[in-house]
Amino acid sequence: MENELHKRDHIGVQDFVLLEDYTNPAAVIENLRKRFTENLIYTYIGPVLVSVNPYHNIDIYNQEIIETYRNVNFYELPPHIFAIADAAYRSMRGENKNQCILISGESGAGKTEASKKILHYLAASSKHTDDVERVKDRLLQSNPLLEAFGNAKTNRNDNSSRFGKYMDVQFDYKGAPVGGHILNYLLEKSRVVHHAEGERNFHIFYQLLSGATPLLISKLKLSKDPEQYFYLSQGKSVRVDSLNDQRDFQDVKHALDVCDFNKEEQEGLFAIVASVLHLGNLKFEEDGHGLAHITDFSPVETLAKLLGCQEEVLKSALQNRTIEAKGEKMKSPLNKDQALYARDALAKGIYDRLFTWIVHKVNDSLTRRRRLKCSLMGLLDIYGFEIFGVNSFEQFCINYCNEKLQQLFIELTLKSEQEEYQREGIAWEPVEYFNNKIICDLVEAKPVGIITIMDEECLRPGDPTDQTFLDKLSENLRLHPHFVSHTTATDTAVRKSIQRDAMSQTSNLITKSCFPTSELLGKKRPETASTQFKTSLAQLMEILMSKEPSYVRCIKPNDYKCSDMFDEKIVYHQVKYLGLMENLRVRRAGFAYRRPYEVFLKRYKSLCPQTWPHYDGPAKEGVEILVNYLNYSNDDYRLGKTKLFIRFPRVLFATEDEFQLR
Ligand code: ADP
Ligand code: MG
Repeated sequence: MENELHKRDHIGVQDFVLLEDYTNPAAVIENLRKRFTENLIYTYIGPVLVSVNPYHNIDIYNQEIIETYRNVNFYELPPHIFAIADAAYRSMRGENKNQCILISGESGAGKTEASKKILHYLAASSKHTDDVERVKDRLLQSNPLLEAFGNAKTNRNDNSSRFGKYMDVQFDYKGAPVGGHILNYLLEKSRVVHHAEGERNFHIFYQLLSGATPLLISKLKLSKDPEQYFYLSQGKSVRVDSLNDQRDFQDVKHALDVCDFNKEEQEGLFAIVASVLHLGNLKFEEDGHGLAHITDFSPVETLAKLLGCQEEVLKSALQNRTIEAKGEKMKSPLNKDQALYARDALAKGIYDRLFTWIVHKVNDSLTRRRRLKCSLMGLLDIYGFEIFGVNSFEQFCINYCNEKLQQLFIELTLKSEQEEYQREGIAWEPVEYFNNKIICDLVEAKPVGIITIMDEECLRPGDPTDQTFLDKLSENLRLHPHFVSHTTATDTAVRKSIQRDAMSQTSNLITKSCFPTSELLGKKRPETASTQFKTSLAQLMEILMSKEPSYVRCIKPNDYKCSDMFDEKIVYHQVKYLGLMENLRVRRAGFAYRRPYEVFLKRYKSLCPQTWPHYDGPAKEGVEILVNYLNYSNDDYRLGKTKLFIRFPRVLFATEDEFQLR
């Protein structure tokens, strides 16, 4: 950073802590804008990396740059995603601390690209034995595979991840990757049956139709035209310029091979993808009694073949529901709406479980052969805050997750600041900040938090509806300072789960393992989706807490996926939701700038006759002599054990300017 300090006028500062006006969002945004215009997409807030999506390829990720960043101290080079990866990697190896890199930001901000770059950097940095090559291949190939099944074109991002992902990469004592493990969060399964105009279903459906051989297409009884399928055509945008479905399908096939999916598993997998499409094309008619009947049985026949279940069982499951009364199971026919709802629920259920099954399979292939002790580097790529015109259960979960991450972030940033002050023997000055614990409590507190109330409502006998749920919320939470209620519920979040008898009897090896019979026989009440999510979030927080975190905060410059537009309003929103101002305040609360004595002395020793041209005493004393000579006032700096702390950037800039004048 030192060597670019003097260029700060046109390219802004490389570290926001060097902004004199650091409490002013406009100054922060102006700094981002300046840098964005110069293709400098990375900026630090101390150790945190802020990244602005350039929406075009910049040649800053090649092998040469990888080598440049290897083993170099963080602040000696311009900010870069590789610097974050390298620092984490070295801390993992040198200090033997497990690491995690948390990447956050809105959809389209560049999170997934950032995580891929980190993985790429880690893979490029290790020795090449066969075993290591095998693992690297799988780690890298797990990406196109999970993206095919978990990503979709949305109006915000042509390749939007519709699931959260935490991936641990395991390294042996030599620092080579030897295995990995993926945790997936909350796939947006509603997309299987419905997507908005301009959007698409998950990539794999279009890839299969476009890339499969004629033989496979005919085996699956498919048509190559996506418009033929209700689940694919609702968005009226089956083709996307930036995507090549046909080529991507070949990549998926390759990834499946690399990740050890055998032929039978691949066949079973595509059969399920196809069955979802056939399911979506099922139509129902209502008879004189208001009961649903399937109009055309040929898709049912195909479905039964693909899933390996009995046609009669499937038919019956699609037109009836099973209810339990007095310990006995009884069938009750459905009306048309209920039948359509059941059809969609089945499609979502099948796809969701298929996705989880794929993640398990990938994890099997990433399991390391020898169980020696290893170090971990975790990568979290998870959706940022989402606020739409109409927000549903999914936005609730996503935003809850972000509140939790924000809480962790603030806690850990403060903690690491405090620890550094302590280590260096400098007095800590308390910082005021907004603690969002109160928001997390509103969601997860027991007995009166939103999730508990939702659970009670979902599992209550009688006829719970969105409205009764909303009433309960208002009744219990009306006095909470952060609870605002609208008077009517708009969409249907509270629904009872449907029985899926048919699926537990299939012979398709995947559905069979995804829908075990034991689940249906079990007496335990199923957990609600929100409780499941809460539990998995709590586990995630534990994983993250046990590691040393690094942060990448991604920002998108505009809503048009466009490379030369910096929309200040949109950026301001993100700066706000990412908590960057708060982060900067915490970082700047004490001292803006800190450097090891050796580094500071090396750069500025020529400014003082007692340290230049010859000085061979201890670095700390040299710096003391230097700052006295430069007339630093007492409040401007502190001398720590190994580092010099400077309170205001202007002091540093004055020194740098003097240096440039020489
Ligand atoms: P997110 O995961 O945050 O939703 P992505 O990482 O998928 O966003 O990024 C969206 C798109 O933006 C990518 O498909 C790519 O075209 C572009 N993009 C993101 N980061 C970069 C980058 N560092 N360089 C070039 N293009 C990028
Ligand atoms: Mg993504």
